[in-house]
Order: sequence, then structure tokens, then C-alpha cells
Amino acid sequence: MNQDRRGFLKTTSLLAGASLLNPFSEVSAGQAYVPQQKNLRMKLRYRPYTLELRHVFTIATSSRTTTPVMLTEIEYDGVIGYGEASMPPYLGESQEGAAAFLAKVNLEKYDNPFEMETILTDIDAIATGNPAAKAAVDIALHDLVGKLMNQPWYNIWGFKKNATPYTSFTIGIDKEDVVRQKTKEAAEYKVLKVKLGRDTDKMMIETIRSVTDKPITVDVNQGWKDRSFALDMIHWLKEKGVVFVEQPMPKEQIEDMAWLTERSPLPTFGDEGVQRLADVKKAHGVYNGINIKLMKCTGMREAHKMLTLARALDMKVMLGCMTETSCAISAASHLSPMVDYADLDGALLISNDLYDGTKVVDGKVTLTDRPGIGIKKV
Ligand code: MG
Repeated sequence: MNQDRRGFLKTTSLLAGASLLNPFSEVSAGQAYVPQQKNLRMKLRYRPYTLELRHVFTIATSSRTTTPVMLTEIEYDGVIGYGEASMPPYLGESQEGAAAFLAKVNLEKYDNPFEMETILTDIDAIATGNPAAKAAVDIALHDLVGKLMNQPWYNIWGFKKNATPYTSFTIGIDKEDVVRQKTKEAAEYKVLKVKLGRDTDKMMIETIRSVTDKPITVDVNQGWKDRSFALDMIHWLKEKGVVFVEQPMPKEQIEDMAWLTERSPLPTFGDEGVQRLADVKKAHGVYNGINIKLMKCTGMREAHKMLTLARALDMKVMLGCMTETSCAISAASHLSPMVDYADLDGALLISNDLYDGTKVVDGKVTLTDRPGIGIKKV
């Protein structure tokens, strides 16, 4: 009898004996996480931080050079999970508001961080709104739980690490020479995302096309008020090699938007018009796809549900971000193997990142092997 055969028989007989006692014992599971001490409790900490932008960032409705964020940590059994709320002022949240919300979050009443569904549902119920502040807790809790399990979230969710998309690189509304310069600086990226919605739209696209023929996606940020004008623009953009149009019209103009989507030669995506899970069903028939952002939808847990629901409704999915450190960008990136498009350039737009995590390598979202959301402090 050769060695393999003997080993096989020995194993089989052991399993057969064991299975008399327990039919599941042949499954050799890894050891579940067991807290070493009793009465362990989670501790939440938070502090404000200001992101410095590399360029003045202009969209249809505003311009700015900094982004206020709130950094969070949840500590449990000597392990620390990191989170972040990014709060561009036009979205209505602030460091003061986030601090007031987080002061009401009492994680010490939970003795098991794995009960994420309960914990995050309770936190969502503390107050309406505050999606970024809620995301700051959600991300830190996911990071903590992933670290306790010693697994990255793409593994926990069952996604393929290397199936990540290219990320687009965002070019804000600007003067012709600046747009040309930014397009040249974006040489590494395979897809450009262009902000439109002012009277310079055609100049923006023609300027970029004078430099490169790579695919362009556009984000109008609700800037076109007239549906016939929007349809004409989309036909023009299609001829210029644009691949989809994000939030072309104001989110309130739902009937106009549905009219436009029905006729549009390019897919339409809802961003401002699709904030949370409950909005996905309403977006069906209005947009072809949704833009999921952790800061809109309260974090990774709800983002994962939105992705699942959008797929069930046969809608396209893109994954977006605010200007954020590599903390929130890395958190979002664990969903990216399952999306059609990613716009995860938020950490590339700032000069004072605090973490090392998911990177953009030759334009592609590239996940780390680290557990949790996969970051470390730098
Ligand atoms: Mg957008």
C-alpha cells in the first residue's frame, strides 16, 4: 500500500469514527474568534481632520480647497478598527454635527462586535441623516471585525480580489489650460471622469479630446434643467467617446429623468438621486444604474445591500467616493470586484493622506492582503 493510500484510509476511518459522534465533524473549520477576557466592550474614539486638496476642486454647484473629515477608531480586545466620515460642505454634514452624533453612539452596551446588523441598525436609528457620521462607525466596525476574523472584507463577502475595475480620474470644471494640464497629469488612468453642468461643457470635452482619446465618463451633478437639451447633449457626448452620464438632471425631476433614460443613447446613473437602500427600488426605471458611495448610504453594510438589490433589478452599479483618505477609499474598494465602474480617486486628490491601503496601480483598483479594510497608518 503506498503512502497516499494508507494516509487516505487512515483519514477516512478517523472521519467515519468521528462522524458517528458528530455528522459535521469532518468539516475542519478554522477556530472561531473567542475573546480571551470576559466583559470586553468596544470603545469608540473620534477626532476631526482637514484634508488638503492638490487642486481647487470645482463642480457644477461649488469650489473648494479642503474637505473636513472625522476620523474614528473602535478598540476591542486590543484590536483597533479605523473609520472615517468625509463631509464636503455642500452635502450638509459638518465636523460639529458628526461629533454631536458620535457622542450619542454607545458601543459599550454591546458585548459582541460581530452582531453588526443589530449594532448598525441601532446606530442608524439614533437620528435621521448623518450618513457620513454613521459610515465612520460602520467602516471602523467592519475593519475591527475583519481584523478579529483575520480576513479582508473581499474574502468575507466572497469577491475575487483581482476582479477590480479601473478607476476613473476626476477632472473638475476649470479653464481650458488647466483642463489640458490635468488631462496630461492623468496619463496613468485609463478612464477620465469629467465634471459638467455649466456653460463650458463642450469646451471641457473638446479640450480633453485635444489631448487624449481615452474613454470619458461625465458627471453633470444635476446641472441640466431641460430634458431636450440634456438629450441633445448626450447624443453629442456619445460621438465624443463618452461612455455614461451621471446625474444629468436635478434629482427632483424624476419624470424628466425617466423620459431621458428611455431615449438616451448612453447609460444614465443616479448619484444625488440615489442615496440609500430604499432609493434603489425608486431609481429603477428612472436611471440605468446607481452610484453607491459609503458617505451617502451609511457605510459598507448598506452599500453591500444596495449592490445586491441593484443587481436583482438588472441595474448597473458604479462605486464612487468623496475626497477621502485611504481609509474610506479602501473600505469602499472591497465592493469594487462586483461593480461595473469605479470612481475611487478620492485619496489621489489629497496631499495629506494618513493611511496606506488600496492603491491605484496602472489605473486599476488594487486591494491589499491585510485583514479588515486593509489599511495601516503611515
Ligand atoms: Mg456624482
